[in-house]
Amino acid sequence: MATYKAPVDDMMFLFEKLRDNSNYNSLEKYKEVNSDLAKDILEQAAKLTETLILPLAKVGDETPAKLENGVVRTPPGYKEAYKKFIDDGWVSLSCDPEYGGQGMPKTISSFFDEMLSAASLSFKLYSELSIGAYNCILHHGNDSIKKKFLPNMVKGTWSGTMCLTEPVCGTDLGLLKTKAIEQSDGTYKLTGQKIFITSGDQDLTENIIHLVLARTPDAPSGTKGISLFLVPKVQVKDDGSLGSRNGVSTNSIESKMGIKGSATCVLNFDEASGYIIGKKNKGLSSMFTMMNLERIVVGIQGLGISEIAYQNALNYSKERKQGKSNNNNTKNGADLIIDHADIRRSLLNMKSIIEGERALSFWLAQQTEVSLHHKDDKIKEEASDLVSLMTPVVKSLFTDMGMEITSDAMQIFGGYGYTKDQGIEQFYRDNRITPIYEGTNSVQAIDLVFRKLVNKDKDIIGRYVKLIQEEIKKNKNQIKIKPLAEKLEEYLKITINFTKWIKDKMKNSKDDVSAACNDYLKVLGLIALSHSWLKVLDISYKELNNNKIFFEDKIETANFFFNRVLPRIESHYKSAISGSKYIMNFKFN
Ligand SMILES: Cc1cc2nc3c(=O)[nH]c(=O)nc-3n(C[C@H](O)[C@H](O)[C@H](O)COP(=O)(O)OP(=O)(O)OC[C@H]3O[C@@H](n4cnc5c(N)ncnc54)[C@H](O)[C@@H]3O)c2cc1C
Repeated sequence: MATYKAPVDDMMFLFEKLRDNSNYNSLEKYKEVNSDLAKDILEQAAKLTETLILPLAKVGDETPAKLENGVVRTPPGYKEAYKKFIDDGWVSLSCDPEYGGQGMPKTISSFFDEMLSAASLSFKLYSELSIGAYNCILHHGNDSIKKKFLPNMVKGTWSGTMCLTEPVCGTDLGLLKTKAIEQSDGTYKLTGQKIFITSGDQDLTENIIHLVLARTPDAPSGTKGISLFLVPKVQVKDDGSLGSRNGVSTNSIESKMGIKGSATCVLNFDEASGYIIGKKNKGLSSMFTMMNLERIVVGIQGLGISEIAYQNALNYSKERKQGKSNNNNTKNGADLIIDHADIRRSLLNMKSIIEGERALSFWLAQQTEVSLHHKDDKIKEEASDLVSLMTPVVKSLFTDMGMEITSDAMQIFGGYGYTKDQGIEQFYRDNRITPIYEGTNSVQAIDLVFRKLVNKDKDIIGRYVKLIQEEIKKNKNQIKIKPLAEKLEEYLKITINFTKWIKDKMKNSKDDVSAACNDYLKVLGLIALSHSWLKVLDISYKELNNNKIFFEDKIETANFFFNRVLPRIESHYKSAISGSKYIMNFKFN
């Protein structure tokens, strides 16, 4: 079975040394959240994920969630683990204390998200969407809805879902058909079918709170006519107690390539009672509150699965002996595969991407908290702009890299990786959904380029580039970091040229832009990872004598990243600026 050790040391390094955002540090709300508290939480989280959650991954894969007489049964052991999970308050980690939450910042909860994703993504998904639904209700629900539904969701005795997809509408939500008819008391009756609904039903909680996109009969067509509704599985009386079953039933659950322990449901809504959330016809923008935060969390899923895949590949490479390395140290006929240059390259590729991603997501967690809680509206807006720029990048880059890393980890195991015994091929299968759900990665790239890059009244990308230029300038004065800072400068220039090329093509050559989106996202992602690595390098040289092993490891890994991973930018750029003529003129026969 796969093993996992939560990377608490690396997380604590980031928490202690890279909490460099003065706007974040000025947030009154998190004044008490110091290193001791962070360490305590992360150590407990590590124990939970390494011992209780990790075994559930294999169980869920071998005994998937199933539908029995209209009721979804989660895999063996999930019920007991979920009870402990909620009893110990893990669902509520980042929720508002007003509703019973523990009020921890994303600088901590995102580390927990990573650990849970690594240990068992299937198990994680049963509570993940609850937090998404909680955030959406918190921001857009009225007071009586919040009071009625949030406390039990925060406790984890009720869960949440996100119901967007229908048989004919996935990416293009403008096509959705589910109907909502207003009743005389102001509630609505919803009728329609939703497919692919994560945790659409399960046997872990007393109630499930579905957030459903639907149309009222008078709604305009397309995305402008979509409203958001809260539809409980079991009706909730005014005193908060549970009433009768609502008109929501599980038609079937999907048989899937991975995350088999997670129940992905087809839900039928048959005149189900619901409440409108936010304004009529503005449902999509309310749902985006949930989707944007969720997209970052999906990126972190890719990071978590990458980490466990890397750890297992590293361990295996230190045990498996095959062939002779170039060092001629061979004893007993063969060397450990970790002695082969190509295996070392592959491991360092994984490690340098993973640690860069963790530092980037920690930076983003600080920006997200500022965007949500800072007192100054201008600072809030500036942080929110950076979060919106980086959300599609983190979602897509981390999950695509997750595919590369889980595939490479399997390769290191050779045939033992492809067969089931070691649990390695499951990482690849489990991760494969992450580039698809929460908006496919191509759609994220389109969002980045067509919406975030080209912004009428703001130059968000220009501000982001400036931030990186400042970091480069600072580090160019340090003799040891200078060569790497200059490398980043060189690739940043390519990125600036790429951005100009896109803005120019946007005027009259949209196919060229569409065909370049994925490459642009990768380029910006690699720049963002290098930005994080530069900050890590700066600290590492300053702290070298305090912990030589840890910081030398960081410096060497950064060197690998700048020399071996960052140059990918050039090929993305060159390929993209060849335009779309070889693409759009081709006739598929
Ligand atoms: C396991 C699982 C769990 C899920 N959980 C949920 C959930 O909880 N709630 C929920 O509502 N949905 C959920 N989904 C649905 C998921 O979000 C969708 O599958 C996803 O958004 C893509 O929609 P689609 O499958 O209809 O693909 P389509 O939208 O049909 O896309 C097909 C292909 O076309 C591409 N494409 C589409 N439009 C464009 C465009 N404009 N430009 C370029 N390329 C384009 C896409 O990138 C994709 O490659 C889940 C799906 C799965 C498999």
